[in-house]
Amino acid sequence: MKLKFLLSTVLGVVLLGSAFADDLDEIKKRGTLIVGVKDSTPPFGMRNHKAQTISGYDVDFAIAIAKQLGVKVVVKEVESAQRIPKLQAKEVDLVIATMTKNAEREKQIDFSYGYFVTWQKFVTPKGKVNAVEDLAHAKIGTVTGSTSERNLRRDLREADLVLFADYKQAFNALSKGELDAVSTEEPILAGRLAKMPNKDEFEIPDVSISVEVYGIGVRKGEKRLLNEVNKTIVGMEESGEAEKIFDRWFGPSSQMPLLRTFKIGAK
Ligand code: GLU
Repeated sequence: MKLKFLLSTVLGVVLLGSAFADDLDEIKKRGTLIVGVKDSTPPFGMRNHKAQTISGYDVDFAIAIAKQLGVKVVVKEVESAQRIPKLQAKEVDLVIATMTKNAEREKQIDFSYGYFVTWQKFVTPKGKVNAVEDLAHAKIGTVTGSTSERNLRRDLREADLVLFADYKQAFNALSKGELDAVSTEEPILAGRLAKMPNKDEFEIPDVSISVEVYGIGVRKGEKRLLNEVNKTIVGMEESGEAEKIFDRWFGPSSQMPLLRTFKIGAK
């Protein structure tokens, strides 16, 4: 009888212990951090077909966070519309995939402090667009489940929106003359434009419809993991590592020189 009582108490403690294990405990126990990234949005995430690896600005943040946690990083490709469902289904531990943090998404998942700030623009054939009004009735491609889709529905109600699973597909359609424009954040547009065979026929006019702050997606309520992520990225800002990563992909000698107009901090 005593033994039975003892056993059930021990079992109870063990079960209780595992019920309280959170994502941070699981990641450390597993020894890997599984991160959802893009593989067709250079220079944030792009596939190196020969080596079968994905690299980019977002991937460098994944590597730095895993290093801080003392575990190995595993990256998995996620499309825009799959980011929140895959995080909620526990297929990935974090999403670092050009994902805008906003109040609507914050109802479903938590976000780190912003780690990149950018603007939504358009790629169009040269000389056609000088103001957003020029696109009022245009056929515009973007990606399902993105804030780019949402912003276009808000600002260009009469436009003909054509939705794709990823930006590579949208640019293929633009390249073949099937669209008047593709719209999302400027560095994604510039990254895909650089890969277009007929890129000289296109441009990114100085027309912007929103400011987008990218955050790292964490499952809702995983406070300890979120704290670690925030601590890591703020530490990367302080040590200069975040700026180094920015310079690697967007610095003066990169393929896509951009000014760093932000610092990573508590917001
Ligand atoms: N940043 C936007 C979003 O989170 C658009 C880019 C993307 O689709 O990844 O939806």
